[in-house]
Amino acid sequence: MKYDVVVMGGGLAGLICGIRLTQSGLSCAIVSAGQNALHFSSGSLDLLTHLPDGQVAEKPLLMLDALGQQAPMHPYSLIGSSKVAELAHMAQTILQQSGMRLKGSCEENHYRITPLGHKRMTWLSPESVPTAALHQKMDVGKIAVVGIEGFLDFQPQMVADQLQREGLQSSSHYVHLPLLDRLRENPSEFRAINIARWLDRPENMAQIVEEIAPLVADADTIFMPACIGLDSEEPMLELQKRLGKSLYLLPTLPPSLLGIRLHETLLRQFRRQGGIVMPGDKVTSVNYVGSRIESIQTRNHGDISLKAAQFVLATGSFFNNGLVAKFDRVYEPLMNLDLCEISERAQWTNKEFFASQPYMAFGVQTDSQLRGHKNGDAIENLYVAGAVLGGFDPLTQGCGAGVSMISALYVANEIVNEFEKSKAKQAEVAQ
Ligand SMILES: Cc1cc2nc3c(=O)[nH]c(=O)nc-3n(C[C@H](O)[C@H](O)[C@H](O)COP(=O)(O)OP(=O)(O)OC[C@H]3O[C@@H](n4cnc5c(N)ncnc54)[C@H](O)[C@@H]3O)c2cc1C
Repeated sequence: MKYDVVVMGGGLAGLICGIRLTQSGLSCAIVSAGQNALHFSSGSLDLLTHLPDGQVAEKPLLMLDALGQQAPMHPYSLIGSSKVAELAHMAQTILQQSGMRLKGSCEENHYRITPLGHKRMTWLSPESVPTAALHQKMDVGKIAVVGIEGFLDFQPQMVADQLQREGLQSSSHYVHLPLLDRLRENPSEFRAINIARWLDRPENMAQIVEEIAPLVADADTIFMPACIGLDSEEPMLELQKRLGKSLYLLPTLPPSLLGIRLHETLLRQFRRQGGIVMPGDKVTSVNYVGSRIESIQTRNHGDISLKAAQFVLATGSFFNNGLVAKFDRVYEPLMNLDLCEISERAQWTNKEFFASQPYMAFGVQTDSQLRGHKNGDAIENLYVAGAVLGGFDPLTQGCGAGVSMISALYVANEIVNEFEKSKAKQAEVAQ
């Protein structure tokens, strides 16, 4: 099997890269082993909220030069400020073209409301998530926070209390919903995604409205856990219309409906553009000819290798085995690529629980084209994107999704340029 590009890993980075490549007319296959970080995420996408020294980045694009000085190995620093700005806008366009309704802009962060009712800065949020502009109070009137009886992953009382501390009027309620009784009998199955499968059925809408309406009679706005609208926003919009009040969804503990919906939307866009996905398959080995990758082998394809002119590594961080940590060693398991400097074992963690943990910035080291290196030499046709990259801390710097999308677009553009150059060369030879 031969493609222009094979992408290893189908999380946010792999999919965004694949979308850009297929948009440019290249054939692309994504091999993806399993679930990715989006399945566990809030559904909001961070670009940059803090610099390593703790400075708050309200306007992320204006902080990139300072970031470059503080963290020269950060993927944004390697890519360069003006390119990052250009690609952040491109990411917004691609998400919109894919069918995501998101609010926010790379020019200025906003606050999203967390499952505990706190405010957290971010770049883009689903339209259905409650948000507040910086330095402004949410203008939503009286809020009714409605939990679902027996659903332990969302505590309306905690949310309402926190909103009150923020100076908002809020009350907490539980809705019973008899249609969920069978599911409720098994607490380990009573999770956001399984609940959504019931709430999304059109024939259940009347009962949902009948039960929620009396609880929220004197509220202007309703906050509910994100347990409705798995495949599309339609059921949530219909519920909002029937209740006649603004309805917002708060992310729950994983699995995350909002993150899964984003993943499915991107997957659909990639396939619509002709991309091939090999879900549940795992890259097991990489075959080289000189300083280039010639092909890869996967678990499901056995002896049949996947060939391509260019390869992208987007296998994620420790969470998805894109990086592996043993007691005294960290490594990239597919190709044993060079990593950013790894401190001695005792320095991997910081005793201060909320401080930046050094191991979070462990990852693959690249050159400024984001090409992977092995034993100090670049692998000519291997680009690296997403959480597998080193040099940044997605948690304390609030840049996880941004690094994934921007590095993915950067390498996709590099690859498109390579193809254009080689086409031009061929045309020259033919003349
Ligand atoms: C639990 C969690 C929650 C997060 N929440 C947020 C959030 O709310 N907002 C935010 O901005 N950022 C968040 N992040 C940061 C996150 O890292 C990025 O947002 C981004 O989703 C990472 O995407 P990725 O594609 O680089 O990696 P991943 O999402 O990890 O995807 C890598 C994929 O590669 C696959 N893979 C691994 N090895 C192989 C192999 N050998 N062959 C084939 N496939 C392979 C994995 O199975 C996986 O599907 C979160 C991270 C984690 C871990």
